[in-house]
Amino acid sequence: MLVYQEKTQIKAELDLRKAKGQVIGFVPTMGALHQGHLALVKQALISNDTVVVSIFVNPTQFNNASDLEKYPRTFDSDIALLESLNEDRIMVYTPSVDDIYEGNLRSQKFDFDGLEREMEGKYRPGHFDGVATVVKRFFEIVNPDNAYFGEKDFQQLAIIKQMVKKYDIPVTIIGCKIHRESDGLAMSSRNARLTSEQRNAAPLIYTVLKKAKQEFASKSANELVKWVEEQFKGHGILELEYFIIADEKSLRPIRNKTGKRRYRAFIAVYADDIRLIDNIALN
Ligand code: AMP
Repeated sequence: MLVYQEKTQIKAELDLRKAKGQVIGFVPTMGALHQGHLALVKQALISNDTVVVSIFVNPTQFNNASDLEKYPRTFDSDIALLESLNEDRIMVYTPSVDDIYEGNLRSQKFDFDGLEREMEGKYRPGHFDGVATVVKRFFEIVNPDNAYFGEKDFQQLAIIKQMVKKYDIPVTIIGCKIHRESDGLAMSSRNARLTSEQRNAAPLIYTVLKKAKQEFASKSANELVKWVEEQFKGHGILELEYFIIADEKSLRPIRNKTGKRRYRAFIAVYADDIRLIDNIALN
């Protein structure tokens, strides 16, 4: 498995492989890798000759300086986890901030027809400008045929799909299912920061999502929102930031259901300063 720190070097190797007709897959990550990340890599290995995995904690997508500072960085175990796949077709790219931003640590401003203003966009101002800036930059460097993103960050996946459409970027975006712990908690790099008390409480997030799905046919969106808010009221360990039922396409919160549309529930919860998100398809 080859590890690169500099874009010029990884580009040179990728150019050689592309010249031989190889199909290139790309899995962008912020490291602190877990089985959810590995599932993306394994999926990419099925239909690509080479799979590039980037590990880069992108400063411009953090709206909170302390979240950026405390974000887990576990480079050695990340490499060991990728090595455990025993695949010499993986190339790891771990650039410095300067290799990506070239001295201009700022995000570009994007308009994704309103997708960027809902949920995570509302609660984390500037987040999606940072995400789109870094992903667009990575696409320029890696120039992949296929790129893999988790449904865990469903809004991010929708925005990246919109970005490649809008900017005519020749990459196929592939969404991958959410990987969960055995108790249902969505795998996340931030889970590593939970105390055992917080970790024991956290499966409530998926429990309420499953219940909302069960009840979706018989209850209004409003009733479900109220019920979920009740579950977190006075909880003591978990604090609900939002629970929203939205149209899966526009990501707009809904008031009334109509028969033909697809809906999804989205949730963000704090355990102290650790922010956890999850979502579930409702119909
Ligand atoms: P991150 O390192 O958190 O930026 O995530 C890198 C990629 O892995 C993103 O496309 C995420 O959506 C995806 N991902 C993270 N956690 C999971 C999970 N539990 N299941 C599936 N994909 C995930």
